[in-house]
This record gives sequence, structure tokens and C-alpha cells, in this order.
Amino acid sequence: MSMLPQAHPPADLISAEIAIVGSGPGGAVTGMLLAQAGRDVVMLEEGAHVEVDAYRAFSPEEMHAKLRNNGMTMALGPSPVAFWEARCVGGGSEVNRGLYHRPSPEVIAAWAERQSIEALSPEDMTDLALEGEKVAKISTLPGPAPKVSLKLAEGAEAMGWSHMEVPRLYSYGADWQSAPQPGLKQSMSATYIPAFVAAGGRLQTGIRVTGLRRENGIWRLKARARGIWGQKTIEIRAKTVFIACGATQTPALLRRSGIKRHVGDSLAYHSMIKVVARFDEEITGDTPLDPVHQVKHFDPRFSLGASVSNPATTAFALSDRPDLLPRLASEWRHWGCYYAQSTGGMGTVRRLPGFEDPLIRAKDNPQDIEDLSAGLRALCECLFAAGAQAIYPNIQGAADLYGPQDLARLPRRLDPATVSLSTLHLTATCPMGAEDRGSVCDSFGRVWGAEDLYLADSAMLPGPTVVNPQGTIMAMARRNMNHFLH
Ligand SMILES: Cc1cc2nc3c(=O)[nH]c(=O)nc-3n(C[C@H](O)[C@H](O)[C@H](O)COP(=O)(O)OP(=O)(O)OC[C@H]3O[C@@H](n4cnc5c(N)ncnc54)[C@H](O)[C@@H]3O)c2cc1C
Repeated sequence: MSMLPQAHPPADLISAEIAIVGSGPGGAVTGMLLAQAGRDVVMLEEGAHVEVDAYRAFSPEEMHAKLRNNGMTMALGPSPVAFWEARCVGGGSEVNRGLYHRPSPEVIAAWAERQSIEALSPEDMTDLALEGEKVAKISTLPGPAPKVSLKLAEGAEAMGWSHMEVPRLYSYGADWQSAPQPGLKQSMSATYIPAFVAAGGRLQTGIRVTGLRRENGIWRLKARARGIWGQKTIEIRAKTVFIACGATQTPALLRRSGIKRHVGDSLAYHSMIKVVARFDEEITGDTPLDPVHQVKHFDPRFSLGASVSNPATTAFALSDRPDLLPRLASEWRHWGCYYAQSTGGMGTVRRLPGFEDPLIRAKDNPQDIEDLSAGLRALCECLFAAGAQAIYPNIQGAADLYGPQDLARLPRRLDPATVSLSTLHLTATCPMGAEDRGSVCDSFGRVWGAEDLYLADSAMLPGPTVVNPQGTIMAMARRNMNHFLH
């Protein structure tokens, strides 16, 4: 049964005291707290509401229903970087695995200092995360982790490296083994957004905000209906606006609206490279639970992790190894997908006249390539220590590896021209901070030089989160909202 009211077509003119653009983790936390404080709020979301468990996770049907451009989005650069962006009620929380970390104390302390951010402390951010966990629950697995995940832990143990089972934003049912889904993902559409609506917030789906301007103390937002509502132009009027469209769409909207200073100049992302490892035994398809292990021993340079390993995700992880695809159907249960992820990806976001989506450029960052190269080597060492029989790096023309003796065949330094990188964690395109620190908004998300205009999402974070970002985005949105309301 749906936790949200039936979607309805938009009126030509929508008025509210406060408008929030975007309903991902940043927008959803902001909306719930505002509505619960008794404010008159409308949340505007470009995508549709799709039940969190309507489709099998990571199935082509889910990607079609919930991702922008079916997931085919790219940053151009020395090596192209593929990334996924959600477009649905709840944003990225609907399509992600919900791997959850509280904000990293080291990262928060570094942000506070580098950006001269007022009243930002690691201790407060932990408390804010704990508050948030009362609404979107986190849990560890109710049973043994899938073998594909345990292999990573076994390898790390053998290498003497610290590793962990990462908790998920997930509530497992007592019947997790037999039910069609092991429980309910604690996505925004299952937690914060129903709470927002219950507190009187209005949710308008299927409209894309294309620009905003201020007139006589009121923000006027121009929007276009899309999807089932057909083509139609809508105006939204609000005294105060929070933008939470995600790390690429927030700067795109600001730039389209003529707000450009430092906007989109400092994209930060976690770069990911994948390998597929073959084991003698079957390691996938043995349980409905998702892989959850990560090796954090090398933070903040890089981390290692186990990924969902079904035929579709394995094919994606072998995008540069088409020679292996004919074996996929018969062998996939023996194959596991793993990644090394560094934290130094950098780029820009710019408006491309005539196009709806912005142009994302990845910059050359030699240190990030160094870190990723070291991460790839460590990942292969770890998987051989866990008993992998073969490792197939996702690099054009790369040699297959059959044991630790083959590690020397890995490139010492990855060549950006031959690797396919991807990212799921984008931030920092409109960073918070003191005005002289290249920031777009102040210590609490208020956009410099614009009255009653705030940012509330991954775009406002001052850099990469090092850990999976959703917990940090939500804690920061809660912090800034507490400041706004008091
Ligand atoms: C496949 C995948 C797996 C991931 N796995 C994890 C994980 O396990 N753990 C973790 O912590 N993080 C994970 N992430 C990252 C995490 O989901 C994102 O960092 C987070 O969702 C970003 O939140 P946000 O509020 O900034 O924006 P988003 O979640 O991107 O939400 C923005 C929303 O705004 C809407 N919007 C955009 N432009 C407009 C407009 N002009 N008008 C109206 N609406 C608009 C979009 O449709 C979208 O719904 C993953 C991401 C992906 C894609």
C-alpha cells in the first residue's frame, strides 16, 4: 500500500510560504522539519512517485522508472566518468543500496577549518545523524552476509586490513528469507516524505523547475510539467526557496537563473574502478541480502567494496571487457563484482545553451589516478587472499590475472585513456563556507547575494565525504534547518 497520497496534476499557479525544489535526502529532511514546525511548504519534484519496492533493485525496469536518462549520464574528461542520477520522489535514496555511514569526524573537522564554517563540529554532526536515524532506521544484516561480500572480508582479514559490515538504511522483516523482499528500504519515500505529508506539507510531482527570479520580495519559479501531466508551464510563488536538486542539477538551476559566482566550479566525486573476480564455488544468488562489506583500512585515499553481482550489474562491471560477456550466462554465479574507490575526483558543471541537462567535465587529477591505481592493486591482492581463481579488471586490453604473481601485470599507473571510471557520489558544486573561501552559500546554506534562497543538498557540502554520502547530506540538512528555524 502506498505511503503517499495519489499524485495530482499541478495547478497553473502554486503559492506557498516556502518552496523546496527536489525531494532527495537533502530536500526530504528539509521538508519534514519545516512542515513539522508548522510552515506552509510545497515540495516540487521533477520525477514521479514510484513505490520503493515496485521493482527488483538494479533491474532494467527500476533504472527506467527512477533514473535520469535511464542511467546513461556521463562526465567528459581525460577518462569519461559514467554516473547515475535519480529522477523520482526520494531522489537517490530510492535507487541506492542505502549503505550508511555517519559523517566522518575527520572530514567534518577539515571542512570547518578549510571553509571557515561557523559552528560545525564532528560531535554535533554525530548527534544530528543519531536524530535522523529515528526517522529512517538503520540495521545490520539479519543473517549471514552473501558470500560475495564475505569474500572481501576474508581477504582483508588475511591481509591484516581493517574491514566492516556497513549498516544499511533498511528495516528487515522477520520473514526476510521467504518474503519477496527481505524488508523495506528506508528510502525518503518510505520515511521522511510520508512524515512531511502527514505534517501538512504538499508534494507536487512531475514538474521540473527551469528557473527562478526575485520580484517584490517574492521568488517566482518557472516550471514545466512533464510525463503524465503533458506539456504545461507552471508558476510557483514563494517567499523562501530551498534548492535540493542534487550535485549536478542544483548548480545547473542556479546558473540558468543567473546566479553564477563559484557555481559549478568545484565538483568533487568518488572515482570508482571495477573488477570481476571468479571463484571456484558459487558466490552469488545464494541469499536475498545485498553485499555490505567495505575495507576502510586505506581511508581517506581509497576504499574497497563488494557490489551487487547479478547478470546486469556484472555486464556493467565488464563494460570494457566485451570478450568476457559470452561467458556471463553460464558462469555469473561464480563471478563477483568488486570496486576500488578513491576520493579525489574533480570537475565542473556548466550550462549548455539549448540543452536541458548541464555539461559535466571531469578534470585531470594525477593524485586521484595514483590513488585509484593503488586501490586497484590492493583490491586484487585482497581477492586473491580470499581464494579468487581469476580477476578480470575492467580496463580495455588488460591482462586477466590468475594469482598474486600476476599483480605485476597491472599497470603501475592507470592510463585515463583506457579506463572506464564511474561514480555514484557527487558533491561540492556549490560549497558552504566563508565568503572568501570560494563558497556559493554561507555556513548554513544561504546563497550569497540572494535573499531567502538556500541550498539543502549534496551540492552544498564543501568536498567529498570519503564515506558513502547520504548520512552526511542528511545530517547537514538537519543542522542547517535547525539554524533556520531558531
Ligand atoms: C545507484 C546509486 C547508489 C548509491 N549508493 C549509495 C549508498 O549506498 N549510500 C549512500 O550514502 N549514498 C549512495 N548513493 C549516493 C546518494 O544516493 C546521493 O548522494 C544522494 O541521493 C544525494 O542526495 P541529494 O538530496 O543531494 O540529491 P538527489 O538524491 O539526487 O535528489 C535530487 C532530486 O531533485 C530532483 N530534481 C532535480 N532537478 C530538478 C528540477 N529542476 N526541478 C524539480 N526537481 C528536480 C531529482 O529528480 C531528484 O529526485 C548512491 C547513488 C546512486 C545513484
